[in-house]
Amino acid sequence: MGIIKTEDLTFEYIRRDEEGNVEGITTAVDAVSLDIKQGQFIAILGHNGSGKSTLAKHMNAILYPTEGTIWVDGMDTTEEKSLWDIRQTAGMVFQNPDNQIIGQVVEEDVGFGPENMGVPTKEIWERVEESLRAVGMYEFRKYSPNKLSGGQKQRVSIAGVLAMHPKCIVLDEPTAMLDPNGRKEVIRAIRGLNQVEGVTVILITHYMEEIIHADKVFVMDNGKIAMEGTPREIFSQVERLKELRLDVPQVTLLAHELKKRGVRLPNGILTTEELVAALGL
Ligand code: ADP
Ligand code: MG
Repeated sequence: MGIIKTEDLTFEYIRRDEEGNVEGITTAVDAVSLDIKQGQFIAILGHNGSGKSTLAKHMNAILYPTEGTIWVDGMDTTEEKSLWDIRQTAGMVFQNPDNQIIGQVVEEDVGFGPENMGVPTKEIWERVEESLRAVGMYEFRKYSPNKLSGGQKQRVSIAGVLAMHPKCIVLDEPTAMLDPNGRKEVIRAIRGLNQVEGVTVILITHYMEEIIHADKVFVMDNGKIAMEGTPREIFSQVERLKELRLDVPQVTLLAHELKKRGVRLPNGILTTEELVAALGL
């Protein structure tokens, strides 16, 4: 069993009126089965409302399945005694860094998690330092978070999760509120965590270009896994991606159009460099 495994995971939001009668049911996650191995970089794509956040919240025991099961490092999330271990194993990073940073000083903020876990003071400082270094924010350790850019704040949030030594980090659209530079910084930091620190990464995004380096991609639609494969396998299916209302990168679209017009190119071109090379220029 991998670090995150689900079997027929289903979640329903139930709307009730004032008297408590059921007004409507939304099946936000619909019989999802997946198995994510320790150390993998996983991307989850999907248009708004496809069920990504609902799925993510199960990985941290914020939500519990209506039907089916999810195991985090082998622990069934519905077992109350495992809650603390589950939250420590799978850390979460959300969209808005302003809601996640509570400290007045960067290093203090990053230390909150391990402090709450009862980590000894000396080790807290070691963890704060290594976490801030891992996301390239060590030189800002004495700053007030207010003074930082969005991308920098988001990297501090990631360091805060990292300081709890999770095996897995789930990031729910961590770049959605950032400018292009901030997005690049955050993606670079996330790749580093995965490649250098060996942390399992589950990145939810709707920016296709952020998934190029993933080991595996899941595309969600209407609560289900609509596609799964390597980035190249996913990007090869341009028509299907358009059906799923995803924005295909310009360079992939261009290569797809050129191919349709008879230019000989491999499937699933992901970057400008690849296209230039494939065209023999
Ligand atoms: P995504 O993260 O892909 O945008 P969500 O998991 O947020 O998707 O939402 C999946 C579905 O569940 C959508 O139809 C959404 O409207 C519904 N939903 C999400 N949160 C709630 C909630 N708190 N109450 C009721 N319905 C919700
Ligand atoms: Mg969401």
